[in-house]
Amino acid sequence: MCVYGIVFLMKPPRTLQEAITYFSDPDRAFEYAVKLRFPDGKIYCPRCGAEKYSFIKTRRLWFCYACKKQFTVKVKTVMEDSALGLDKWMTAVWMLVACKNGISSHELARSLGITQKSAWFMLHRIREALKERTFGGGKIGGAGNEVETDETFVGGRIQNMHKDRKLRYNQLGGVYGGKTIVHGALDRTVRKVRATVVPDVKRETLQDAILKNIKYGSTVYTDDAVAYMDGLQENFIHEILNKTESYVRGRVHVNGMENFWSLLKRGLKGTYVCVEPFHLSRYVDEQVFRYNHRKHDDRTKMTDAERFKLAMSGVAGRRLTYDDLTGKAESPHHQTTGTGTQEPF
Ligand SMILES: [Zn+2]
Repeated sequence: MCVYGIVFLMKPPRTLQEAITYFSDPDRAFEYAVKLRFPDGKIYCPRCGAEKYSFIKTRRLWFCYACKKQFTVKVKTVMEDSALGLDKWMTAVWMLVACKNGISSHELARSLGITQKSAWFMLHRIREALKERTFGGGKIGGAGNEVETDETFVGGRIQNMHKDRKLRYNQLGGVYGGKTIVHGALDRTVRKVRATVVPDVKRETLQDAILKNIKYGSTVYTDDAVAYMDGLQENFIHEILNKTESYVRGRVHVNGMENFWSLLKRGLKGTYVCVEPFHLSRYVDEQVFRYNHRKHDDRTKMTDAERFKLAMSGVAGRRLTYDDLTGKAESPHHQTTGTGTQEPF
């Protein structure tokens, strides 16, 4: 649970309570979303790209003269098709990115006075928008950077089983019923994580995840699981942690990754009582977002308000459109243009 002080000021919000008050004004919430949606101030029809429209102020929507359809600030964002107001969306985003372990749909439903089903829908949409790709997140590492990489098992009966034993179970024929495997990599230099759900712990699968997420030339630390044994040295400086000899051999360890796994599991245990394997990847995205944006690049602490702004740029910004989520054709204005330099507040 997050606890915030109650301060009513009309300055840009710094706490959840201030954010709720701030965005309860529909005009202010609308203006904020418009600045994120059209960061260069140029409004266009998200459907056809035309810039000829009229604005219907009372309903806070536009009418496009080219395609003769109305559009709102939500069209082609993760909020499309949602009847919930911007104030509710913004409060939900704040709660999700500010609470260390996230929030459950039940908790969100109670806070916003909406149904649990609506809250569940919102949380999943927001998690989609928090995916690292939304924020230009490509591969981590690079020459001179140290990257820890590891995998973990989530859920199911063998959750607490030692990894070596799990691997033996796998070799016996993939006894994974109810367990989901997550592979992750942590760039120790910039403290950024990439994590994805993978189908199994076969060599091809795990090494493929490494190739997709880590830049060639990085120094890569893994444990001595069979899957990591051959091949990685072709593209990386590969250092292997031998668990039977000594747990930590100088810098060769995956303790940072293990710390991330424990954060992930703590959140799952405390907040998300049960997460179906299918939905786990979204929750992983959420946890990666919070982890990667605890601090700025210069290592100063990121405030809740700053993390919220960043998250909102994914939720209401055009960088991630509804089409990205559904895989439809790209709109003419789809090109990514960065975060937008204008401050939304
Ligand atoms: Zn149009």
